[in-house]
Amino acid sequence: MSGQSDTLLEASHVKKYFPVRSRIPFSSAKAWVHAVDDVSFTVRAGETLSLVGESGCGKTTTAKMTLMMEAPTAGSMRFRGQELSSLTGQRLRDYRGAVQAVFQDPWSSLNPRMRTARFIGEPLAVNTALSRPEIDERVRSLLVSVGLDPASAANFPHEFSGGQRQRVAVARALALDPQVVVLDEPVSALDVSIGAQIMNMLRDIQASRGISYLLIAHNLATVRYLSDRVAVMYLGRIVEEADSEELFRNPQHPYTKALISAALTIRPGEKTDEIILSGELPSAVKLPPGCRFHTRCPFAFKKCFVEEPQYREIAPGHRAACHLH
Ligand code: SF4
Repeated sequence: MSGQSDTLLEASHVKKYFPVRSRIPFSSAKAWVHAVDDVSFTVRAGETLSLVGESGCGKTTTAKMTLMMEAPTAGSMRFRGQELSSLTGQRLRDYRGAVQAVFQDPWSSLNPRMRTARFIGEPLAVNTALSRPEIDERVRSLLVSVGLDPASAANFPHEFSGGQRQRVAVARALALDPQVVVLDEPVSALDVSIGAQIMNMLRDIQASRGISYLLIAHNLATVRYLSDRVAVMYLGRIVEEADSEELFRNPQHPYTKALISAALTIRPGEKTDEIILSGELPSAVKLPPGCRFHTRCPFAFKKCFVEEPQYREIAPGHRAACHLH
């Protein structure tokens, strides 16, 4: 069982606010987009934590802070106990090697004029003292590990299918033997069956290399079989987190229930408390008072409009923020 000492990544009360320019000339009033608003989570060695929610819930901004593409407005992000904002020089380079990413669109993540061997081998050329023949050998072995023909090292991106291009992107992410890979919507641009193959491959790679994943997805069904734990985000906050099986079997937050009922084909014997969400995601500039989900929640009652629910443990390892619990 994973313990505190296994913790690789730790986000603690992290916030990210973006300023919004006022439309009133000469106005000094400042408004802020509360993209991420007090989020805490850990990613332990060898596990997958999934952050799930609709577009605009803050999951991608959270991933960017993990990759140091954005700096938090407040709170702390640590890797193996070291504050990310304090990393410089070699320790920063080590972090960038230890935490890699695979993004959504295989087309945009591949330079169309770069042969696969160079694309996958580039992190090795920049960060190691390996010779060109040694890099080429590593590239061939990485291609095999993602299920591609080593001869495809000579190919250009357009010579691969969408699923193959995503395999190439995974091979590059693995080049420096990372400890954590951030998977930002890795299969949402792919057909369902191709996406399932990629998810299976990612699970096999995790089993053989013992790496951790921080998986970002808008669709709960996508994450079900790869996740050890799932955190559901809504308007910049985590509203529920539990072990994956527990979350799918026993969701407690109305938003999680709605996401599950929207995403999963219900099997015989499975509970079907179907919840259809109405309305749009409220603005992250002017947040609703009380529970920020009350504008769409079919169970909202008086307290929900005025009092923010605490995020607390409702069963061992299962946390939620809802006045119903
Ligand atoms: Fe719904 Fe109220 Fe729970 Fe918020 S606190 S999720 S509005 S029941």
